[in-house]
Amino acid sequence: YVDHENLHKCDFAFTALKHSMKWDEEIYGLEYDLDLFMIVAVNDFNMGAMENKGLNIFNAKYVLASPETATDKDFENILGIVGHEYFHNWSGNRITLRDWFQLSLKEGLTVFRDQQFSSDHGSAAVKRILDVKRLRDHQFPEDDSPIAHPVRPESYIEINNFYTSTVYEKGAEIIRMIHTLLGKEIYFKAMTEYFKRFDGQAVTIEDMLKVIEEVSGRKLDQFKRWYQRPGTPLLHVDRVIGEKEQTLKFRQEFTKAKEHAHEALLIPFRIAFLGSDKKPLETSYSGKMAHEHLLEITELEQSFTFGDAPKDAIPSLLRGFSAPVKLKAATTFEQKIIALAAETDSFNKFEAAQDLAEQMIGKKELPKDYVDAFKALLSNAKTDAYFTALAIQPPTPDQLANKRESIDLEILYSDYLKYSSLIAESSYQELLDTYLSSANKDPKAMDGKAAANRELRNTILFLLSTTNRPEVLKLIKDHYRAAQTMTDSIAALQIVASSQDPEREGLLNEFYKKWHKDPLVIDKWFAAQAGSLHP
Ligand SMILES: [Zn+2]
Repeated sequence: YVDHENLHKCDFAFTALKHSMKWDEEIYGLEYDLDLFMIVAVNDFNMGAMENKGLNIFNAKYVLASPETATDKDFENILGIVGHEYFHNWSGNRITLRDWFQLSLKEGLTVFRDQQFSSDHGSAAVKRILDVKRLRDHQFPEDDSPIAHPVRPESYIEINNFYTSTVYEKGAEIIRMIHTLLGKEIYFKAMTEYFKRFDGQAVTIEDMLKVIEEVSGRKLDQFKRWYQRPGTPLLHVDRVIGEKEQTLKFRQEFTKAKEHAHEALLIPFRIAFLGSDKKPLETSYSGKMAHEHLLEITELEQSFTFGDAPKDAIPSLLRGFSAPVKLKAATTFEQKIIALAAETDSFNKFEAAQDLAEQMIGKKELPKDYVDAFKALLSNAKTDAYFTALAIQPPTPDQLANKRESIDLEILYSDYLKYSSLIAESSYQELLDTYLSSANKDPKAMDGKAAANRELRNTILFLLSTTNRPEVLKLIKDHYRAAQTMTDSIAALQIVASSQDPEREGLLNEFYKKWHKDPLVIDKWFAAQAGSLHP
């Protein structure tokens, strides 16, 4: 159900719903139970959406989309949220909560399910990076703040205040860790049993964990602490390098709920080693030769030794971000440069790019090794444009601020822009070439590859804009005028809104005149100006 004038903007949400139904049948073996499934889109709805049985209520911006009015990000969100609400039909409605303390039983599990769903409908590597970024941008600050709370709260005055990033996103990370520890096959066996046994009932997180224990044959007493412990754990890693082996010493540290700080968490930790010749290595651990190993860290201080690991081998730690912790490991600039080229885990490759950029922010000039490594990243643009776009984006001032003890916003912003202009000047030709060569043949194409190219081109456009070269401003305005999608026009408008260009006012007015009857587009027009770097 939508307002009459929005009827033509429903196609994508319909397709997303059909994909969701098919996916849940194929992957979890769960079918829809009614003859009719209804969605109503409401313009004035404060939340994202609500999974009322058979009749989902949606904020209009998560249903309505056409290429002319919605960005690729909007389409991504619609896919994820339509999926999320639909999946609640089982994880939330058919099996519901005994009481509100169990909120994460449905939300953590359903967020994990919608992450898997989106991952299967695009690039899994990119999806994992976006999910971790979201976790770090929203959940980590919450977990560090005075409103930190466990994934399952112990008490509440108003449950509406607990629809939080911790209950949702950290809750999903807990389910993901269960998936990692059990392996795919046993995880799905356990879930099948869970949905069968409790169908039609109102249950608790313990009920779910008990089924998982029964099916997998492993105890989850220690693992359960993830539901009880507020705060993001710190995981310190030290290396002891021997002749032919390396030992990693882990130490868990807790900044919240200090009264429980003597009780270690169970942390699944994926690890591999990279050769200094930039080739992946096989090492031996626990009688097994392999490139990647899965460790289970169960003690506050614990060591693991890897055989056949040469002195100069570089560890690739916490691959795929296998647990929601803050990793504290000493890695040198040279090791990061090698890792950036050699990484076999796409999340860690992204992480290496981010760490290096962060290290460069605040510098007056960039070392040649770094610029070369950055240019090498661009050479992947043809095969994975979206990943490249994410890897070349410097960490935002917000992300930098989250990691620092004291924050001077003026300095953060000017350092961020300074870095962007330095890297753009030193890779100017490579960036421009990549921009030109990744143009879509059909500028209106909406498939994943086309969206990835747009993400890359718009990222490059932003970096180039920080050089303040007049020819770049012309390029941006041409990009705006040639745009055939909202993604392209709003990206260019955002950059112009951040500039002192004499045409700035004119373009903003032109955009307003064209779209003033569409409230969702006008929200973007507001956002472009509110987010302007130069007020
Ligand atoms: Zn939900």
